[in-house]
Amino acid sequence: MFAENIKYLDYNSTTPIDPRVLEAMLPFLKDNFANSSSSHHFGQRIKEMVKQAREQIADFINAESDELIFTSGATEAINIAIKGVAESYFNKGKHIITLSTEHKAVLDTCNDLERKGFEVTYLSVASNGLIDLEELKLAIRSDTVLVSVMYVNNEIGVIQPIKEIAKLAHETGALFMTDATQAAGKTRIDVNNLGVDLLCFSGHKMYAPKGIGALYIRTKTKLNPQIHGGGHERGLRSGTLNVPGIVALAKACELASEEMDLNQKSISILRDKLEAELLQLPNTSINGVSENRIYNTTNIRFIGQDANILIGRMKNIAVSNGSACSSSVIEASHVLKAIGLNDDDAFASLRFSLGKFNTMEDIDSVIQTIKELNQ
Ligand SMILES: *Cc1c(COP(=O)(O)O)cnc(C)c1O
Repeated sequence: MFAENIKYLDYNSTTPIDPRVLEAMLPFLKDNFANSSSSHHFGQRIKEMVKQAREQIADFINAESDELIFTSGATEAINIAIKGVAESYFNKGKHIITLSTEHKAVLDTCNDLERKGFEVTYLSVASNGLIDLEELKLAIRSDTVLVSVMYVNNEIGVIQPIKEIAKLAHETGALFMTDATQAAGKTRIDVNNLGVDLLCFSGHKMYAPKGIGALYIRTKTKLNPQIHGGGHERGLRSGTLNVPGIVALAKACELASEEMDLNQKSISILRDKLEAELLQLPNTSINGVSENRIYNTTNIRFIGQDANILIGRMKNIAVSNGSACSSSVIEASHVLKAIGLNDDDAFASLRFSLGKFNTMEDIDSVIQTIKELNQ
């Protein structure tokens, strides 16, 4: 799959495109290029393809196709959802609740709303990364318009109790949104069973290309549009549709549905082996151990080491460190700090996120390399 024999264990950052997804989208980059809004036959044919793709993607999360809009990715979907709700339900209240371990796309959007006069509660998490439902109960008020909690955390893999959170939000009439970017393709999603009002995911985290994402909006949920123009996507996201991306996302959903159980089985075996072997090294431990953890992710702290130096020494291995580069200063990961790590321990942490193209050989090679670096 990869040039130069790279051992790629950074699937939570982005995935390669599945060759079958690439094959499905290619005709739409070549001959089938028409604008799906054009009224000529050529455009109408593309419109029909988009309709089918939308049904398939909606099916993937057990939604209706008119509850789905396409975006450029999860970041855009999150902005459209959170800002859209905040502006629409302004008269009901100006309070939003989210989690301190959310992706920056959620946190920065909430920060922006705070500057515009909204009030945001950032809930803390336990040392295993899980939300405290009692704390949530106390935080919800009659003027809370939205609760937004991610499904699966991208850094430590903890799975939040989405169904319970949605129920609590609804008890006071607040809407519930979940960023399901790390859940989609890895675990089955049913928006009705979960009871969510808004949910987003992104193509490039599930073997489709970058630049395509989807936002589920439960019928009757009001969103003030953030992107104005030709009125595409029921006026909620104007702009010519990314047809190759949409077709690719539909194919990625189809493959994920069919192969999810198999992938889960094989990836779990690899992740568990990697984790068990690395934990045998002195001064290592898992960040955010929880019963509820996605099967492809492990975040390990190599106490006393510098993750950046480790990454620099691992020439053929792609993993992530426990820090983020924001405004050109390197900061310790806000997720690791939220689960109680100090800066040194956060900077000593590596995230390994596996995917369906990993092999036992990749894992053995990574274990071998890290063992050698520890000598
Ligand atoms: C990657 C990611 C995002 C951002 O997705 P884009 O499609 O790259 O904008 C948001 N949330 C989570 C949890 C992610 O992992």
